[in-house]
Amino acid sequence: MAMSAETGAAEKERDRAAPWRPDVAAFSRKLAQASPREIIEVAARALPGRLAVVSSFGTESAVLLKFVAEVDPSLPVLFLDTLWLFKETLAYRNALVAHLGLTDVRTIAPSPSALAMRDPKRDLAFRDRETCCGIRKVTPLAQELAAFDGWISGRKRYQGGERAALPTVEADGPRLKFNPLARLSRAQLEATFIGAKLPRHPLETLGFTSVGCSPCTHRPAAGAFGRDGRWSGLGKTECGIHTALLSASATDK
Ligand code: SF4
Repeated sequence: MAMSAETGAAEKERDRAAPWRPDVAAFSRKLAQASPREIIEVAARALPGRLAVVSSFGTESAVLLKFVAEVDPSLPVLFLDTLWLFKETLAYRNALVAHLGLTDVRTIAPSPSALAMRDPKRDLAFRDRETCCGIRKVTPLAQELAAFDGWISGRKRYQGGERAALPTVEADGPRLKFNPLARLSRAQLEATFIGAKLPRHPLETLGFTSVGCSPCTHRPAAGAFGRDGRWSGLGKTECGIHTALLSASATDK
């Protein structure tokens, strides 16, 4: 099919702005030793007006958002409100936004028609978690990201599982996905919290090490690690917004 003049111009402009697109793995290796702030700076320079941050405002989110605020507090931050979040998470979002001076935090809710059709009794989280995550997280985020050419996640390799081999930059369909905290250690994350005097998620003081939706988050046993309290005992470790991509992406190694 012939390309219109407008489409051709737009694609040329995109190629000019993102010359690494043919080799994302090489671009990722180039940034493998960069600091979180440097990686966010590179991403923001490369995709001006077309880059978003995705945050759950969970127990570790403040560190990524601190670096984002230092680079550009007006970067769009997408927050998925599944309508199953703890009220403490919503309060923490408001407190952290004010603390860091973020100016464009967008709260994204599931489609009312999808909820009416697939989860009319609000019990999907207890009988079909893949579909529940699909309509409450994966689809709403995919729709919101359609307006962007790249996004930033806060995942770390130390979180293990599918995240253990996380590259610094990866392809996410037509977009780039940056993982500025990929090589951060737990100790470095903790040091950043302390050094920057970042506020903590209210549920952390009650023993929660990772906080998502209330039906799928449990307080782990003492000594448990990070995300152990998520989908505990269900054989599920990811909601789906990252896993399809991770299975197909390269690593920095
Ligand atoms: Fe539903 Fe649980 Fe997924 Fe939240 S984490 S969207 S409640 S299945």
